[in-house]
Amino acid sequence: MLALRDAREVHDVLAIVARALARDFRRPCTGYELRDGICRPVAASGMSGERSPFLAEALDLPALRLRVLVRRGTDDLFGISSDGQLRAVLILEDARDPLDDEDVKYLRALAAHVSLALGNALAFEQLRRYAAEGAALTDAARTILGFTALEPLALALCRLCTRLVVAERVAVYARRGEVFARIAFAAIRPGLFAPDELPADERSARTVLGNAFGGAPLAVAQLVFPARDQSEHGGLLVCSRRMPFDKSELRLVETFVNLAALAIRNVDLYEESRRANQALAESNAFKDDLMAMFAHDFKGPLTVISGFSELLADAADPEVRRTAETIVAQTRRLAKLSDDALALAATQSAGFSLQRGVEDLTAFVAEAAATLDRAGDRVTVEAPAEPVLVSFDRVRLRHAIDNVVGNALKYATGPVRVSVMPDGAGGEVTVAVSDGGIGIPAEDLERIFSRFGRAANARSRGVAGSGVGLYIAKKIVEVHGVRIEVSSKENEGSTFRIVLPRS
Ligand code: ADP
Repeated sequence: MLALRDAREVHDVLAIVARALARDFRRPCTGYELRDGICRPVAASGMSGERSPFLAEALDLPALRLRVLVRRGTDDLFGISSDGQLRAVLILEDARDPLDDEDVKYLRALAAHVSLALGNALAFEQLRRYAAEGAALTDAARTILGFTALEPLALALCRLCTRLVVAERVAVYARRGEVFARIAFAAIRPGLFAPDELPADERSARTVLGNAFGGAPLAVAQLVFPARDQSEHGGLLVCSRRMPFDKSELRLVETFVNLAALAIRNVDLYEESRRANQALAESNAFKDDLMAMFAHDFKGPLTVISGFSELLADAADPEVRRTAETIVAQTRRLAKLSDDALALAATQSAGFSLQRGVEDLTAFVAEAAATLDRAGDRVTVEAPAEPVLVSFDRVRLRHAIDNVVGNALKYATGPVRVSVMPDGAGGEVTVAVSDGGIGIPAEDLERIFSRFGRAANARSRGVAGSGVGLYIAKKIVEVHGVRIEVSSKENEGSTFRIVLPRS
């Protein structure tokens, strides 16, 4: 009894009872487990002959269910029920005399104990099965939720399903354009099952399913993935084997199908977002190309206009001169805008890169300042006497410095100081541009580096500007791996600093 109480498996329970019966009755005893209508030997004791497993119909199960004990030929069949169901049969062989009343009483009492022990063992088995199913489903989820294409996913689903519910063959059907076709197939023993045994098109698949449900010796679980929308079938997962699936297996497959539906939805979403990304990238590339083409073709005519209007600005007639000077100023603005547009398009394109060279930063900055300060009376450059060597892209950095110095000239009316300041340790060099102009309100300091970002005071004073100059300068400075900073006070002035590593 103690051994029975501790038994955790059906096999152990039946082995203990078979041993006890063989000893008490001095007759060979074999234990059979009844599951899914099949009777399988799980324990034998004494000199039991080699009995081949026989089908449940060969036993008198209805009689056993009612009476616990049935004699058949020289065998005594001893039935054990649990939860109102016959779960096991013990066969005592080689009967010589009929069982006497004492024996029958003893066997009936034993049946009650064994039934309890069997119930325990079945509960443990259920728990173990739940744990194993949980682990298998978690594993399955991990595998299938990472797929980005339907075909490999369908194949993985088939393989997992053959393992999970020990289906012999599994196929996944899904709509491909107009047709509903088999897109993956897996079998436990591929040699025995040609994929063609599960048909490739929907109509014959449904016929096979129909036959199977109509009593053909093939058990089929037909599971439909939830449809993605009302016009479309999500898909079909078909598993088959010779024995019918029991309830818990069907529940497992259903959970698996829900997982599969999620994985298929994942694939759909991935595909949707990939398409959206591609469309976005294409439209971005188109916009960049358009901008670049536009800005580039702008420059030619502008150069011609500005050349002729500069000639006109030397005219004797003051009216003509004034008009020509306005044309020159506006043409320069347009040229600057088209330069910025070109640089903006370049910074947005994926292939934005630098062509670096090592140069003296002082000479470079002085040249930029001189070009911008046409009259030569506003910008002063302060720099060490010896060259300050830095690695940078001439064209791009020039654009950034032009934008910062150009702003200082635009937003201030007084002098502008440009300083080249190497730090003592020789690690970095700072180009600082200071003015005593309108300054930037504290709340706008972040915004001015964003695309089209302008400070409120620049707008309200009506200073012309596009808000892209500093954005481009920041981008250019960032691809150099360096930084741009600003400190400013409204109505007092601003200082912009570009900090570069020294070569
Ligand atoms: P914009 O074409 O408007 O000058 P930028 O991108 O070059 O565009 O500058 C962005 C904004 O930063 C300007 O609109 C202005 O509000 C502010 N700003 C830039 N430089 C200065 C400066 N030196 N003094 C005051 N405000 C400035």
